[in-house]
Amino acid sequence: MIGALGFFALWAAGRLLRWPPAGIAALLALWWAALVLITAPGIGVPPLAAVLGGDFRLWVLLGPAALVVLAYRAGLAVLRARAHPPVTAVSAAAAAASVPVASSPAASVTAEAAADGPGRGTGALQPQEIERYARHLYLREIGGPGQQRLKAARVLVIGAGGLGAPALLYLAASGVGTIGVIDDDAVELSNLQRQVIHATDRLGQPKVLSAATALAALNPHVAIRPHHRRLDAAGAEALIAEYDLVLDGTDNFDTRYLVNRLCARAGKPLVGAALGQWEGQLAVWDPARGGPCYECVFPTRPAPGLVPSCAEAGVAAPLPGILGAMMAMEAVKLITGAGEPLRGRLMLHDALDAETRVIAVKRRPGCAACGEAI
Ligand SMILES: [Zn+2]
Repeated sequence: MIGALGFFALWAAGRLLRWPPAGIAALLALWWAALVLITAPGIGVPPLAAVLGGDFRLWVLLGPAALVVLAYRAGLAVLRARAHPPVTAVSAAAAAASVPVASSPAASVTAEAAADGPGRGTGALQPQEIERYARHLYLREIGGPGQQRLKAARVLVIGAGGLGAPALLYLAASGVGTIGVIDDDAVELSNLQRQVIHATDRLGQPKVLSAATALAALNPHVAIRPHHRRLDAAGAEALIAEYDLVLDGTDNFDTRYLVNRLCARAGKPLVGAALGQWEGQLAVWDPARGGPCYECVFPTRPAPGLVPSCAEAGVAAPLPGILGAMMAMEAVKLITGAGEPLRGRLMLHDALDAETRVIAVKRRPGCAACGEAI
């Protein structure tokens, strides 16, 4: 009995002390080898074998049985990785070939200065970055390989408003190596009630430059690409092609449907969120990897004026913070391959009742955005 308890004690100690899985496996293998030797007829130590319990043949059989289980789990992990590859692996070549684009001289300077900043790109993590991202490195689901993927990732955030503000801050804090942001607005006083990336002393500045200032102050190891212009059909396709992943934080339906179609066509995952007053929704639209696109689920855009904007209807200040931070969370999961993203699932959050529901959503045959016809 003590022999069997030894396996559990070693495993539990390893998990508690956060030993690496390979270290725990090596200790368990050593314990198994010791049990086999101690209980072996002829060469074993009978008094000790009696204390440890079990039978020599039982302990010998345990080794191959454990190997079969481990091989099965490794096979499952390979299949799972094939089913949900990290997005950076899909388009790393396209991302590597792209160059910074900015729409104004001021933005160009900021973008290029940031692009040459320390730690950008696919190189090894520098000591400063290892300390900065230590809490990520401890996570089994992210660790060093995940942090490298974040560093190599290029993420485009559409809109530096209520949703974009927290999403941008958490993408930069997480160490996403290249962050693009497109918006044609300037910072207004009424924005500051929720758009926490901006500041009172930057009123009147283009939102993308105000955001770039905040992001550079938060993390100098990431490259910021501010695009001070409105996203239009002509330039959007080329812009999206430069990134691995797109976060849509806009509040108008024209842009939302346009971005969805372009991302579906380019095979890029789109993290989309929307909100009003006290409620919000969030999903990963990713038809290239089996999930629906936005238009699969919402094929008909509402009539103009039917859905009031935040400016008309109001919005609770922390609500975009909740949804925007969750957008960044989904981005981190997609880039690192951690967990299960909201692909094929739509999350609905009701802040007034403090309730969150997740419902399954499916691809719609004949969808004009992601169907076979496009
Ligand atoms: Zn679709």
